[in-house]
Amino acid sequence: MQIVGAGLAGPLLALLLARRGRDVTLMERCPDPRRDSSTAGRSINLALAARGMRALDAAGLSDVVTPLLLPMRGRMLHDGQNAQLLVYGLRSNEVIYSVSRAELNRALITAAAAEPRITLRFGQQCIGVHPTYNTLHMREVATGHAYSLALRTTIATDGGGSAVRHALQAGGLIDAREDLLDHEYKELTIPPRHGEFALSSDALHIWPRGGFMLIALPNRDRSFTATLFLAKQGIDSFESLRTAAHIRTFFAREFPSAHELMPNLTTEFAANPAGLLGTVHCSRWHFADQLLLLGDAAHAIVPFHGQGMNCAFEDCIELADLLDKNRSVETAFSEFAAQRQPNTAAIAAMALENYTEMRATVLDPKFQRLKSLSLQLEQRFPQRFIPRYSMVMFHPEISYGEALRRGRVQSGILEDLDGAAPGGDIDWTLALQLIEARL
Ligand code: FAD
Repeated sequence: MQIVGAGLAGPLLALLLARRGRDVTLMERCPDPRRDSSTAGRSINLALAARGMRALDAAGLSDVVTPLLLPMRGRMLHDGQNAQLLVYGLRSNEVIYSVSRAELNRALITAAAAEPRITLRFGQQCIGVHPTYNTLHMREVATGHAYSLALRTTIATDGGGSAVRHALQAGGLIDAREDLLDHEYKELTIPPRHGEFALSSDALHIWPRGGFMLIALPNRDRSFTATLFLAKQGIDSFESLRTAAHIRTFFAREFPSAHELMPNLTTEFAANPAGLLGTVHCSRWHFADQLLLLGDAAHAIVPFHGQGMNCAFEDCIELADLLDKNRSVETAFSEFAAQRQPNTAAIAAMALENYTEMRATVLDPKFQRLKSLSLQLEQRFPQRFIPRYSMVMFHPEISYGEALRRGRVQSGILEDLDGAAPGGDIDWTLALQLIEARL
């Protein structure tokens, strides 16, 4: 088999397949990350949750990855100069982890390089694909030399801007759409203070401001990577923040507690690119046993649930299991697409909903009341009621589609209980009746 793209999903998939006896060639357009430390403008750190951990574990990588992780046990909301921690879950293991994309990528590539069944080829860029002619068009980046390979069993894990997907679309073989948000993101740094983390290191920090927000995740060097999510155009927008004075005034007004911790703000703001945010919808993921799109190439999502990588890792494990079960690769590809599409559509929808929640709703007292009520319901009825966020982040045995469906039912229950308790005294008998009737 050959895999195009050795970002996050590519090397994990190669490892899962190789450990189940398949020979894999993994091709990547960038140089070997074990020798080249540039991050190419991609997000610096990511939140890893249970779905991703389960897939890494299945590839035998837990021991390698665990030392790279920083646990975050909740959202730290910064409102003016006040900060409040909203825990993610009731149990001590209900945490998510901040991990450096570059370190995780290097760990995956190092493990893949040690596997005799995997051949790694860096500096090889896919420039096109023709299922009808069974051809994959490649280019050697260093020399510009173009060459073709037989498509055979190729899996495209070449990310949200997938060249493979674009080629299929240009050839009229699939319908694909990239729905871009009118917001972009920019990454900045909160460096260590006196050698220590400048903010508590066990939380994902959020400065929600309604139409936009700043978030920060901890790094192992005791810095934080802060990400500003902001409209492209308009009054408060990337377009309006043109000078160092505009940037300083905006940060001092909107995020005073972060601003005082960002000595390099204006230089970084000017130097770092603004990145696009969007959802990829793709009508078809596979062509017979020749080609399959997987990970962001098939279904990139906005990052507000911290699930793009987790979902791509879950893809890898589900595909590896289906290939084990089926004698035909074509059947495995087709079952994979049928089984994953409803679930990736569900997490795409939940990720979009979460943007409104993170930047705005989270400040609403009613939201905080319902959040706390949902944790209380979980405590009283642990087998019956699990908050939607927990289903997505901590319960890989519950599919994204099921989390979306149950989440909607649970929202109705929360609204009804809250509506029936204006003074805040929850009627637990009614709670049990509603749960039994609806869940
Ligand atoms: P990628 O990791 O993008 O890998 C694609 C690889 O293909 C790259 O190495 C690239 O160089 C290579 N490639 C590209 N084109 C070609 C070509 N033509 N030929 C050969 N190789 C090629 N997810 C989470 O789970 N948690 C988070 O907290 C989170 N935060 C995010 C924050 C931001 C700002 C963004 C933008 C994304 C975030 N994500 C997060 C999503 C996550 O980054 C992606 O879902 C994940 O990287 C998908 O993995 P992938 O392997 O499919 O694609």
